[in-house]
Amino acid sequence: MTVPANLPATGVDAFLAFFVPIAAGVFGLLIGSFLNVVVWRVPRGESIVSPPSACPQCGHRIRARDNIPLISWLLLRASCRDCGARISKRYPLVEATTGVAFALCAWVVGASWLLPAVLYLVAIGIALALIDLDVHRLPDAIVLPSYAVAGALLSLAAWNPGGASNWTALLRAGIGGAVLFVVYLVIVVVYPAGMGFGDVKLAGVLGMYLGWFGWGALAFGWFAAFLLGGAFAIGLLLTRRASRKSGVPFGPWMILGALVGVIAGGPVAGWYLTLL
Ligand SMILES: [Zn+2]
Repeated sequence: MTVPANLPATGVDAFLAFFVPIAAGVFGLLIGSFLNVVVWRVPRGESIVSPPSACPQCGHRIRARDNIPLISWLLLRASCRDCGARISKRYPLVEATTGVAFALCAWVVGASWLLPAVLYLVAIGIALALIDLDVHRLPDAIVLPSYAVAGALLSLAAWNPGGASNWTALLRAGIGGAVLFVVYLVIVVVYPAGMGFGDVKLAGVLGMYLGWFGWGALAFGWFAAFLLGGAFAIGLLLTRRASRKSGVPFGPWMILGALVGVIAGGPVAGWYLTLL
């Protein structure tokens, strides 16, 4: 058997294909730990950098060795080292979810300049979905800076140093953001009971991402939010867990819809168009 001439390059590619998702997963665990702080503090108007994390029960600072994602929670058997107060399962769950989502994105997107933009979307998506479920708000402190951060990261992806630039995708991202912002603005003006202005502001950010991936992704991501949110609301009504009046936040469905649109939007829209 002859050795392929391109073995070294293939070896590097194989190593990257294996290593990048694992590195992204570990990075995701750390970001997930940070998101727990964001989800707790941002709605309360507190700083996300100081003071250092402390036990809400006894006020003792969390030691560095007790602040390792997942592992500390397991080693401490879900209780504070100082006072024994229970530590919610939600903390390791958020860390694990972020880690898995980061690894999956890295596996799908690969080691490219698009990856930072996608990981940022996943991170704010998880934080905003949890905050919206907790307090029915999508804080400006996260949503508004995301226009600049997502714009910068998508510009980096469009520039694609070392490869072919894709300024068309960036233009589409700009248009997509404007379109989804206006569509949600119209919905909120026409039917104010359905959702709030926080949803409109988030729609602009999600529209940028969906627009980047294509018009099919934009249409499908928007549609998927209503499909998923509607199905969930009907499910709640049928199982009588909610009355018609209890407000179900729409933000998590917008975010989930956007992620579905990013992943499946292009292929599904293409398949749908062949049916027409
Ligand atoms: Zn404690």
